[in-house]
Amino acid sequence: MGRKLKFYHKKNSERKRQAAKLNDVGCPPKRKCKRSVNLDFSKSLLLPEGWVSNLSKGTLGLAKIVTKEPPVITRSLSVSQNGQWILHIHGKKIDETKCAALHSLPNPTDDVQSLLVLVDNLNVCPGHPDKEYVSMVECKKGRIKSHNGKVVAKLDDYANVLFEGVSYESTVRPVTCELLTSKTTRCNFCLFYRSNLRAIYSNFKKDSTARKASNCRPNSKTNYKHLGTPEKHKRLTNLRTEVARARNEVKRLRKRIQDSMEKNAVEVDEDLDGDMHAIMTEHQNVINETHATDSFHRLFWEEQLKARLKQDSRSMRWHPMMICWCLNIKLLSPCTYTALRSSRLLKLPSERTLRDYTHWVKAKPGFQSEVDCQLTDEAFSVPLDNGNGNHLRQYVCLVFDEVKIEEGLVYDKECGTLIGFVELDDISTHLNLSEKRQIATHMLVFMVRGLFSSLQFPYAQFPSCNLSGGSLYPLVWECIAHLEMLGFKVLAVTADGASPNRRFFQLNSGICKTKFTYKTTNIYSKESRPLFFSVMCLIC
Ligand SMILES: [Zn+2]
Repeated sequence: MGRKLKFYHKKNSERKRQAAKLNDVGCPPKRKCKRSVNLDFSKSLLLPEGWVSNLSKGTLGLAKIVTKEPPVITRSLSVSQNGQWILHIHGKKIDETKCAALHSLPNPTDDVQSLLVLVDNLNVCPGHPDKEYVSMVECKKGRIKSHNGKVVAKLDDYANVLFEGVSYESTVRPVTCELLTSKTTRCNFCLFYRSNLRAIYSNFKKDSTARKASNCRPNSKTNYKHLGTPEKHKRLTNLRTEVARARNEVKRLRKRIQDSMEKNAVEVDEDLDGDMHAIMTEHQNVINETHATDSFHRLFWEEQLKARLKQDSRSMRWHPMMICWCLNIKLLSPCTYTALRSSRLLKLPSERTLRDYTHWVKAKPGFQSEVDCQLTDEAFSVPLDNGNGNHLRQYVCLVFDEVKIEEGLVYDKECGTLIGFVELDDISTHLNLSEKRQIATHMLVFMVRGLFSSLQFPYAQFPSCNLSGGSLYPLVWECIAHLEMLGFKVLAVTADGASPNRRFFQLNSGICKTKFTYKTTNIYSKESRPLFFSVMCLIC
């Protein structure tokens, strides 16, 4: 068996030498037990174009440098005295046993010149430099993972790759890529992986299109801070269209109710109302006898009687069951509810009271699309274009202040997060990423006040700690941008005289440095409207 193996080895090495002679690559010498390469010949080594050599501490370093800014070493060879060589391509160590193009090369070797020529002649596998694949992997943080979480492909932007005569700055490679190939196209592993990559891209495209479209919908729950600027603008535009559509719908329904009232409504006169009251008081005992205390009929009767006895309807406190019943009717048919109320036959909670029970959102830090909808509903419930100076309701003042809150962390069971950390805009969050997360001590609150209306609306809040004028700046302007996009005209910004607020006003001074900045241009208004600053003075 031993003899046979020896014979085979001899025969194999002989064949290799003959093949090398034919290819004019250089004849691999017969193997010796102890190998020692005299590295002094490095001076006489013929370096191919772009290669440099360096002999230090008994190791010969050879590197191919590509001129760009800064110059990059694309291929490097280090040969030690015993002839052992290590090859790096694009900064990655190559395992010669796994690379088909290097199978014919012995390691260790005596013929460094042939090794160098061969390494220089081989092509770097271009991987998949297609623009769409590269941008997809960039979105996936530079790597593609399999279902079990293993990285299967990476983005390689170490140096330019050449494919079909075109140079590409970055490419996508499977982790199995051989990096060196004797072919002019991709290595076998990359060729095999291409169909997988195509399938991954197809899924990614579907997902991203669907995600972008859903983020831009007016009823999307995604926080604005997770959206890019074009998506944010698209969503706000959609929101405005939706608000306009809803306003038209309200206008149409209101007209329908009015028409219906004019045709079919019967007015209950004062006498009839008085009679109703008298009948109810007289028959109170009968109701008490015939209906159980816990029945809804009894409750309904009592609530009606209570409401009739109230001089001012605003002082009425409705039973929760009554609210539920009224909400049920209103949600089934708003017209029916309005007709029931306006008939004055029954005393029912006003639509404004019911609105408080249906229009609520969970308070979160930052800007929320649900709050945007509520604000526009409240401010523009009556159409703006019906004369009587109604359009003046668009003019608002933005008021902000920091309120002291109790420090501490609370666990939110619904979303599984800890609440109580500082949460400002994206820029501040990114700047503070490297630092420890701070616990909020104050709450920065933005409030919208109508200048010609009674509108008072707490618009957004941000947990903060040691707020500076610099961190206030993007927040206030983002708030103004949101309000302008919702159809408001922000004319003034008001805050107290705290030093961060004064610093914020100063930051808006632009080139003209005055003692106090009292106005600037509202960059978000279409007509370059001025924006005034004012300081509230609290006299104790
Ligand atoms: Zn490859």
